[in-house]
Amino acid sequence: MGVKKTFVSKEKLEEISRTYPTPFYLYDEAGIRANARRIKQAFSWNPGYREFFAVKATPNPAILNILKEYDCGTDCASKTELMLANALGFGEGKIMFSSNDTPEEEFAYAAKVKGIINLDDITHIAMVDEALHGKFPETMSCRFNPGGYFKMGNDIMDNPGDAKYGMTHDQILEAFRILKSRGVKHFGIHAFLASNTVTDDYYPELAGQLFRLAVELKDKTGADIRFINLSGGVGIAYRPEQRDNDILDIGEKVHRVYDEILVPAGMGDVAIYTEMGRFMLAPYGVLVTKAIHEKHIYKEYIGCDACAVNLMRPMMYGAYHHITVAGKENAPCDHVYDVTGSLCENSDKFAIDRKLPRIDMGDYLIIHDAGAHGYSMGYNYNGKLKCAELLLREDGSVRMIRRAETPRDYFATLDFTGVMDAMDPADLDGGSSVG
Ligand SMILES: *Cc1c(COP(=O)(O)O)cnc(C)c1O
Repeated sequence: MGVKKTFVSKEKLEEISRTYPTPFYLYDEAGIRANARRIKQAFSWNPGYREFFAVKATPNPAILNILKEYDCGTDCASKTELMLANALGFGEGKIMFSSNDTPEEEFAYAAKVKGIINLDDITHIAMVDEALHGKFPETMSCRFNPGGYFKMGNDIMDNPGDAKYGMTHDQILEAFRILKSRGVKHFGIHAFLASNTVTDDYYPELAGQLFRLAVELKDKTGADIRFINLSGGVGIAYRPEQRDNDILDIGEKVHRVYDEILVPAGMGDVAIYTEMGRFMLAPYGVLVTKAIHEKHIYKEYIGCDACAVNLMRPMMYGAYHHITVAGKENAPCDHVYDVTGSLCENSDKFAIDRKLPRIDMGDYLIIHDAGAHGYSMGYNYNGKLKCAELLLREDGSVRMIRRAETPRDYFATLDFTGVMDAMDPADLDGGSSVG
């Protein structure tokens, strides 16, 4: 078994929680920066390379602004994500709009903020035509779905044939022809064929498929292909026994495939884009929660002050998130617990039958790898409120980058004005770390 390290000590958590009560998200600025630097280096062989961070993973301006310093763009899938990217100054060439099942209005908005529209479906050509009154953008992209299974060797990695995204081979060919006839000058190709891959070979394999498709599309339609977007899907080692992806190796392997397929086809100036979310942020964010309840019935339960509202992945996908008991990093894992939240849903468990050190009430539990698809997936079931997000800066100081929700936030959208009048303002604005 490998060891999963945390970036924060028990002493530091005690200090932080004097100002910001648990639960909270804590992001590691140093880790985010070091990783962003490595990614830039991994693809530095490709002059046009750009990472478009998948905003949905961690839609926080403080995080997006850090990534911006490393020349990242944003990948957005909705109007609100586009609004955020635009407000933060991600301008032309720095916003990708990779949506699906898209309302027409959002195509118009994407064009307004100079986002690159990545069409998920051939029927969206007519919709964009309508939304933009016949004036197509100069650059457009199309999303490809080859169907069947995505295999590497004999291993089935994922099942694109069962996924709602992208166009078939014949549709993308047709889409390029139509768009070209409608005045689109530059093209991109996009595909997302496997999720959370823990192998250095996913991007190179995907790149091979997309590069061959690019050569075919260029030959058959004469389209000027400017970028190939490998999208997301690069995974992380959620489990201690897993191996971390080596982004430098991944970059080098994509380089080799590029030299094999694109360069001989006279396409040695095509830019590589990525839209990683998980790999950019997941390991650099943790959910910190406190053990507040122990229960001994047919199993041993530890109840904590966070729940699936704060981190949904275990409940939604049965996802594994490693847990460290702060201050007991080296203690033997000689207890077996279900670690639960408080929702009236039995699936609200951060861990099931997990071997952990003995947990005492008041212990801080650090739930690892929650920096992407963590806070952002949250919801408000059972009237539970979303917690704060904190940034641990490189100098060791802590900045609150999103306050915790209060009851006032929760009730604010009700069409019943009397409801808050009948409540105590102290209760409405109470809760944790209002700020
Ligand atoms: C979710 C998503 C991503 C990011 O995926 P990760 O698994 O976080 O890398 C990238 N592109 C698109 C279109 C997505 O929907």
